Amino acid sequence: MSRRSQRPILEVRDLTKQYQPTGGILGEKPDPVKAVDGIDFDVYEAETIGIVGESGCGKSTAATAMIRLEEPTVGVVRYRGEDITDFDANQLKRFRRDVQMVFQDPDSSFDPRMSIGDAIAEPLIVQGMDDRDRREQIVADLLERVGLSPSDAARYPHELSGGQKQRIGLARALAVNPEIIIMDEPVSALDVSIQSEILQLIQQLQTEFGLTIIAISHDLTVIREICDRVAVMYLGELVEVGDAADLFDTPKHPYTRALLSAIPSPDPRNRGLGITLDGDVPDPGNPPSGCRFHTRCPEVIPPEDLELSQEVWRSVLHFRQRVRDGTVDLESIAQTAAIEVGMDHAAIDNLDVTDVPSSAVIDQLRRESDLPDELADETANETLEQALQQLTNGKIEMARETLSRSFTTVCERVTPSLVSQGDRTVSCHLHTPPDEDASVTQQPSTGADP
Ligand code: SF4
Repeated sequence: MSRRSQRPILEVRDLTKQYQPTGGILGEKPDPVKAVDGIDFDVYEAETIGIVGESGCGKSTAATAMIRLEEPTVGVVRYRGEDITDFDANQLKRFRRDVQMVFQDPDSSFDPRMSIGDAIAEPLIVQGMDDRDRREQIVADLLERVGLSPSDAARYPHELSGGQKQRIGLARALAVNPEIIIMDEPVSALDVSIQSEILQLIQQLQTEFGLTIIAISHDLTVIREICDRVAVMYLGELVEVGDAADLFDTPKHPYTRALLSAIPSPDPRNRGLGITLDGDVPDPGNPPSGCRFHTRCPEVIPPEDLELSQEVWRSVLHFRQRVRDGTVDLESIAQTAAIEVGMDHAAIDNLDVTDVPSSAVIDQLRRESDLPDELADETANETLEQALQQLTNGKIEMARETLSRSFTTVCERVTPSLVSQGDRTVSCHLHTPPDEDASVTQQPSTGADP
């Protein structure tokens, strides 16, 4: 059951963090990269909310921008109703006491020359506590609360294990009696055997201190263990937010489903849905148009009049994207095809694509792109055949146009909005049918590989 109150302690609105990359071709200024792109959500008092997504999705940047460790480019963050983006230096100092961050790598969080006691006491000194005895009492108490001994105050970081250092990190964060703790990948640097101990400790401390916790992780098992609510991020945007137990039981967004399906199950009868995501998270400097997930989405919506299975439709779209990106290696495909048809080795060494029968190159292209010999939909089959011919004849631009004209998806044309459905918010056309007239229609991106 959720421990949270109904009162938001943090309200995040349209939070955007943009970076200006350096360099660029021929002195041109490169486009800014939106690591976080207009996210909205609330954090409730005494809850643990998880922000989850693959590496590079913007979750850590969202956290640092949310508390002004990095200045947000746009957006409002209200802490107990006050906009922190308007805070002056004194207000910011108080806010930084109330909101503490625990970082992923315990090793880099400590000065190796500083004793553990001094490291825990440091934030107290920063906040103006001059009484040494009082500080030592607080340090001793905190060490006990995180499962260590007061005598550990005299030790140095190199004498401690990873798990012990993470306990010290928690003790240091708790020293100034914060309201909120943000934990960036709280256990990912630790052995699996230690992870669950630290997660239990986090839960225990949350109850004891009435803390609000924001946990950032790529690891859904961590989020499942400690969070009341979950916010799933993809390429700088939130795609699904909801109650953790509910969201894990019935994920609505295809990205959430794919992430969940990748969690290893100890039960051999329950190996998840077996969804694999192709490729990496696309470049945030050139995000795909429409739904940013469309280049990798296993459920990307086909045109209404196309009679293809979802699997074949995905293969066709994937192939179309590779042709657009220019990543189809025709020479190596022709070489493989030449071997298949038994061409002479000397001829293969100095091969030109046109030396190989085009039917053999097309067969090989189909094989390596998971395209069946024939598509069930007659019109689609003719179009694909035409594009394959154009490609093998070196007419790459024509092949691109043929594929782009005929194989399109509403998912790349229309940007889905994050829409509330009861306690859940989801941004996906499968849940809120797209209105192409009302929506901003974008040019399909040539961005990322599906
Ligand atoms: S909008 Fe389309 S591409 Fe995006 S998640 Fe939904 S089905 Fe997939």
